[in-house]
Amino acid sequence: MISRWWQRLRQRREARVLERRAIDEALWQRTVASLPFLAERPARDLERLRRMASLFLDRKEFSGAGGFVVDDAIALSVAVQACLPVLELGLAQYDAFVGIVMHADAVVARREVTDEHGIVHRYDEVLAGEAMEGGPLMLSWADVQGGGGDSGPAPPTAYNVVIHEFAHVLDMRDGVPDGVPLLPTAEDRRAWLAVLMPAYDRFCERVVCGYDTVLDAYAAESPDEFFAVASEGFFVTPRELKEEQPALYQLLASYYRQDPAALP
Ligand SMILES: [Zn+2]
Repeated sequence: MISRWWQRLRQRREARVLERRAIDEALWQRTVASLPFLAERPARDLERLRRMASLFLDRKEFSGAGGFVVDDAIALSVAVQACLPVLELGLAQYDAFVGIVMHADAVVARREVTDEHGIVHRYDEVLAGEAMEGGPLMLSWADVQGGGGDSGPAPPTAYNVVIHEFAHVLDMRDGVPDGVPLLPTAEDRRAWLAVLMPAYDRFCERVVCGYDTVLDAYAAESPDEFFAVASEGFFVTPRELKEEQPALYQLLASYYRQDPAALP
């Protein structure tokens, strides 16, 4: 009984949010048109994404760094791209954090590592985005804008910093950024690794040998980056990913409960 009452309360609350956070029609059309991998989604998906984006905008807090102004168009673009991976999983997947910090451009982060001889190495890392456990999530707007699924000259490569960083959020739900999202059982985790790791090893070989790949070579960095980059490919260039890495594609299709390569 209590759960039904709770459900009704939640539905009423959501209905109020959807009214308050209703997305302007013209802005919605412009946003979808700017993202070709979204534009080809069926109307039913787009309607659900629009609803989810309203709830996302209500739950998350955007802030601009260094005077950068996050307007409605920027926030909506991020929201709808972030919602796509969790279309079938639900927004609660992102409950662990609230803040999203937007920069105008990539951020240079000073890094320090100490090697086995105790020598400290300092270097700069250029970040298009960064997800940390518990948030906030950081994104560069210049890089988000480059994430529309540029097919360019063949072979097409996927690039989408929003999907990439939110895939890291999903990966970290079990507390460890290791390329394995939160799965129901230890057996599921073993089955996941039995597909992911051979695909990762093959990918690294291809990169070392200098072959072209659908996924960005950065995916060879580590299994967690491989999962994040593969998620970009899964949503932005699904048919190409399915052809190059069929087992990996199926793994992601069963996790995300979507089959974007099958879209007409
Ligand atoms: Zn990453």
